[in-house]
This record gives sequence, structure tokens and C-alpha cells, in this order.
Amino acid sequence: MTLATCNPLVQPWTTPHGLPPFADVRPEHFAPAFSMAIAEQLREIEAIASSTEAPTFENTVAAFDRSGRLLVRIRALFYNLAASETSPALQAVEREMAAPLAAHSSAIYLDGGLFKRLDALYERRATLGLTQEEARVLERFHLDFVRAGARLVGPARERYAQIMSRLAELTTRFGQNVLADESAFRLVLRDERDLAGLPDFVRAAACQAAVDRGVADAFVITLSRSHIVPFLTFSDRRDLREQAWRAWVARGEHDGEHDNRPVAQEILALRQEQAGLHGCESYADYALADTMAGSQAAVDSLLQQVWAPAKARAEREREALQALALSQGESLQIEEWDWRYYAEKLRQARYGLDEAAIKPYFPLERMVEAVFDCAQRLFGIRFVVRADLPAYHPDVKVYEVRQTADETLVGIFVHDNFARPSKRSGAWMSVYRSQSRNMLAGSADGGVLPVVANNNNFAKGAPGEPTLLSFDDARTLFHEFGHGLHGLLSSVTFERVSGTQVPRDFVELPSQLFEHWLSEREVLKRHARHYRTNEPIPDELVARLEAASKFNQGYETVRYLASTRVDMAAHAQRSAEPIDIAAFERAELLRLEVPRGVGMNHRLPHFQHLFSSASYAAGYYAYLWSEVLDADGYDAFTEAGSPFDPDVARRLRNFIYAAGGSRESREAYRAFRGRDPSVRPLLRERGLLDVDA
Ligand SMILES: [Zn+2]
Repeated sequence: MTLATCNPLVQPWTTPHGLPPFADVRPEHFAPAFSMAIAEQLREIEAIASSTEAPTFENTVAAFDRSGRLLVRIRALFYNLAASETSPALQAVEREMAAPLAAHSSAIYLDGGLFKRLDALYERRATLGLTQEEARVLERFHLDFVRAGARLVGPARERYAQIMSRLAELTTRFGQNVLADESAFRLVLRDERDLAGLPDFVRAAACQAAVDRGVADAFVITLSRSHIVPFLTFSDRRDLREQAWRAWVARGEHDGEHDNRPVAQEILALRQEQAGLHGCESYADYALADTMAGSQAAVDSLLQQVWAPAKARAEREREALQALALSQGESLQIEEWDWRYYAEKLRQARYGLDEAAIKPYFPLERMVEAVFDCAQRLFGIRFVVRADLPAYHPDVKVYEVRQTADETLVGIFVHDNFARPSKRSGAWMSVYRSQSRNMLAGSADGGVLPVVANNNNFAKGAPGEPTLLSFDDARTLFHEFGHGLHGLLSSVTFERVSGTQVPRDFVELPSQLFEHWLSEREVLKRHARHYRTNEPIPDELVARLEAASKFNQGYETVRYLASTRVDMAAHAQRSAEPIDIAAFERAELLRLEVPRGVGMNHRLPHFQHLFSSASYAAGYYAYLWSEVLDADGYDAFTEAGSPFDPDVARRLRNFIYAAGGSRESREAYRAFRGRDPSVRPLLRERGLLDVDA
């Protein structure tokens, strides 16, 4: 028996649609399979680099895009499982493989022979007669190599590889530390006094969490967002709110083996050194060079336009909350564990919107039907559940996605909606396989179909009860589904530019844009139906939802911007001297004059966007940047007079959802919208136009 015959990871996957053979895969299969796949890609790269033929697009660029398919497949499965259904054994593999995988990546990018061929082609790119996509792929690969240090020589080259390897270890540890703090915490509620103020849906979720964790005769609040946020919103017990809030914001900031402060500190210092090797003054300069924004100045300009009105609005919101507390005879300063609580009271008083009255209209199953229906009306695709297809957990649903007109299979969609202890927190889209058509000549296949996953962390309803979403949860569902469509509708030749392989300040456009359909009246009337009576959501409730849509936006915007500005400041430093990240964060918040009681979305010790990988380092601003695009982009439908206008939908599919990174972002947006984006629709939607600053 050899590795190739007994390890299911490296054998051909004969499952339907080539889905991973989840049931056969064991954690111990990964390390040997990774080694084999790494060796295979190195042989492929060696064959390209050492070819005696003159470099051509086909024998170099297309061949490189095709290389490493085995590794890509194994890596995708591994990181999907590590995020959605992890175990101590998988976590050990993750730690063990971080450095070798980073070393492999360095080995490719620092392979002088391959870069020489790419560089030669890049220099002659205008004369090669390339299609638009081919030219773009050549540019992308060339830039990947340059940004990964291909031009470095001597000791700088060695040091660069060391830095990347160490960063891979540290970012892995950062994420695991956050997960450890999240799994370690539980707030146990024993009696009616502890439960004061909590509506049924919060109690039901807390009851389920207690069952999951084997806690008898009690309710459990965890640090999962769908537990902690409702608890902070409804609990009458100020002392318990404070206790829960303190645990939530202290994730990653405990002395001992899971302390993320030294981890983040070392990551920041190494990134600064990495940027220095590229000749950049700061990591922010290095990171922003390859984005739609392009520079710190462009980002700052956007942040400045939003910061002052957002802060002014948050101050006014704070005054209103203070007044409300006072009117109830409570003379207190609104602290961070109070804001959501009093905001909910004020929201109910102003708009009569009670979360507990809204949620029955947003059962998860109906909302899933809603996203599928919107996708069908916009893009003519339908989702067919296939209970027989393999998955890694009984809660996961797998769908075939077909073009309605001719039943053509578009891809496979994996929907994993519930929180569990083995899953990381948050919501995300990921792929098991990316769409592409870059096959070897003579290959009969029409191309590689995408396998796309959406993960959410909704608190599962009690046994026999439906899972009811808050309006925010429903928005998250739509958001991730928008990313999912970006992967599913992708129609490009080369994997390098497939689906979400776009600059990170463009990648939230397809997702944030999709959120808009949830707020459409006709979508709500069709899909937001009471889980017991099937009655559509009443008009007056929709009207109140609309009226309340700008409520508390100062708070939300400031929290987001505070995290964004701390991210930019931390990565804009020009010295690799280690900093005390907690002190740094405090000083920045003081300098920004963040209104009391607001806080930030993510504090540095658990800011996974920045430190679990480099993907949003100096890049948390990207959500706002993309929001400029989605607010402006959605106006195209409004201007056309229908949220499902077929012409606008067709342009949206062609130039945004299907195009991946095959076009430059500004150009893709212009092709869709017919002009450059404007910031005004964003300010209007957040209620930040005409705020007295
Ligand atoms: Zn997103």
C-alpha cells in the first residue's frame, strides 16, 4: 500500500461533482498529502522554469495557472474544515503545516527561473497579441512575484522567506488564541433573576447552548456574536451585561498561553520589516499599492468625509440615550455595555420595533428561499437541494446551482448556517474549488465548476422550533450569499482571476450590494412571512423598519471607523520597534476622540481581519470603500425603476459577478455603471448627509 493508494486526499475524487470525500478524510491524512502535493507542484514549476523553449503565454503563464491543482484542492478542503468543523487534531495539523506551506509559497515566488520567464513576457506584453483577460493574468502573476520578493537578492531574499514563514505561524496562532478564549467562556444563567429582560428567542438560544455544552438546568450565553449581541441588547441586568461585555472585548488579551498581545506585536514588526525590504516606508504603503484605492491618501480622504458627520451623529445618539436613562430614573453614564440596551429601548419607543416582534417574520428557511429567489430573478439561476451529496456535518446543506433556461449546471453551493463549538465565529464565504476553463489542450471537459460555501453562525432554534433571524442576521445571510454568487457566477478562463480574486476594497461590492434586496418592499412582502401563520410582514411594520434603518448609524459607523483608523495607524508606522498594542490602541482612540460608550468593532487583540491572515491588514477600510460602490451601484436599479431591471442585472452579472479579476476594478465598475462612483449615496443611506458637525 502506498500513500497514493490509501490516502483519499491524493486519489481522484470520484464523488458526484468531484466533491471532497468528507466521510473518508481523517486529520492524519493531511500532513502526508500536503507533502506529496507540494512536491508535485515543485516538479510542475521546475518543468516550466527549466524548459528550453522560449517563454510563451501558454507554456509559462497558462501552465503556471494550471500548476498545483492537487495542492489547491487539498488546501481548500483543509482550511474549510479548520474553519467550519475543527478539532484538536486538525488544529495541530494547522500549526504543523503553517511554516512548510509558507515555505512552499516562498519557494515558488523566489524561483528565479520562473520569474525570469514571466518577467521576459511581461516586458513584451504589448506585442504578444493577448486577450484582455490574458494580459490581466500576466500582469497579476508578475505583480504577485514582485510583491512576494522575486526581485530581492542575497541575504534580503533569505530574510524575506524567514519573515513570511514566521508570519504564517503567528497568524495561525492568533486565530487559534481567539477561538480558545471564545470556547473557554460561558456565562451561566441560573434563574429568572439572571434572565430578566431576555425575550424568548434569546432564552431558546441560551437553552440550546447549555444543552450543547452539557450544562444542566441552566442557560448559557457564549461569546458567539448571535448570543452576545442580543444579550447586551436585552438583559436588564447591568452587572451581567458588564461581565459579558468585558469577556467579549478581552478576547485575546489574557496573560498566559493564549495571549495575542505579543503575537500581534511581532506580526506588526515583521510586516514593517517586510515592507522595508520592498522599499516601502510602511506596511500600509505596501498593502495599499495593490488596491483600488491605491494610497493612504485616498483612503484617508474617504474616512475623513465620513468621520466628522458620524461622530457628530453618535454624540447626538448618546445624548438621547442618556436622556432616556434619566427619564427612567437612572442617573448613569452610558457605558459600552449600556449602549445597545438603551438604544433598543429608544428604538422601541420611537419606532415601536421590538426585535421579538420582528424575528417571527424572518425564519431562516424563508430567508434562504428569499436569497435564492432574488438570484433567480436577477440572474436566472436556481438552487436545487441535494440531500444525497456528501457534507461534513448533518446541519450542512448542499445544492446544485443550475441556469434555469437550459438546466446547465453552474456550480455547487454549500450552506452551513449554524453556530457550533467546532466552528470559528463570524460569517464568511469560501471555496472548495474555483471556477476556471484553463484545461490542458485536448481535455474533454468544458471547464472546472465552482464549489462555493457560505458559513454563518446563527443560533439554532430549540428542537422542533424554527431558527428565527434578526434583521441583522438576515442581512448577514444576504451579504455572504452575495460573495457566494461572485464565486458561483464567475466565468473566466484562468483560476488566478476567478471569482473573488479581486482587490480587497472591491471584493465587498458583490456582497454588500446584495444586502440591498433584503430591504426591498416587494422582497419583504413575498418572503418575510410569519413562521406560524404564513402571513406576510404587515405594511406598517415594513414602514417602521424603513424609518428605523438610519437609527443608531452614528454608533455603528464610529465603531467601524474607529477599528479602521486603528488598523491604518498600526500599519502606517515607519519603525519596526515593537509597540505595546493595548497602549497604542488606547492612545489612538483618545486622539480620535471617540465618543464615550461607543467603542470599536474589533480591538487589536482579537482583530482577526488584521492578524489571522494578511488579507485585511491595512484593509479594514475596504468595507466602506466597497460601500461607496454598492450604494452608488444599487442606485442604477432605482434609476431604472425596478430592483430586478433585466438590463441593469445583465450588466451587473457580466461586468461584476462574472468578471472576477479579469478586468481592472475601476474599469469594471465603469463598464457596469457607465461612470465613476459617487460618495453621496453612501452618506445618504447612513443618514450622514446634513448632520451638524
Ligand atoms: Zn463580506
